[in-house]
Amino acid sequence: MSDKIPESRKNLYYAGMFLTIIGLILFLSNFVIVFTGNMFNFMPMLSFVGFILVALGQVIRTVGAKGVAGSGIILDPEKAREDMKPYSKAMGGVIDDVLENVDKSETKKEIVKIKCRNCETLNDEDAIYCKSCGEKL
Ligand SMILES: [Zn+2]
Repeated sequence: MSDKIPESRKNLYYAGMFLTIIGLILFLSNFVIVFTGNMFNFMPMLSFVGFILVALGQVIRTVGAKGVAGSGIILDPEKAREDMKPYSKAMGGVIDDVLENVDKSETKKEIVKIKCRNCETLNDEDAIYCKSCGEKL
């Protein structure tokens, strides 16, 4: 199982983006047509088509990013987890880094050792007698 987003889903994502842009251009072009006064021929149809394209583009983009199950189109929690894996990993990776840093600073506790005057063995801070020669510290 790969953690990378499959190429087909990447293409789907870009296709969705493309549709959204085309849809927006069509949708916005209505305002231009209204301004120029030629709205009777184009406006209702273009506006509708543009709107549909934007909506469709958004859905396709989501499917591309999260997979069919991950975006909730197919109700399959098992598959959804798998689909979302590359997506969540990218998100979770940031959180993991933060957690790791917190962990490091927590465990970076100062350890104090006491050197035995007799044999120079390093003993724990709270030791009373040297663990090597038994001399009182
Ligand atoms: Zn000692």
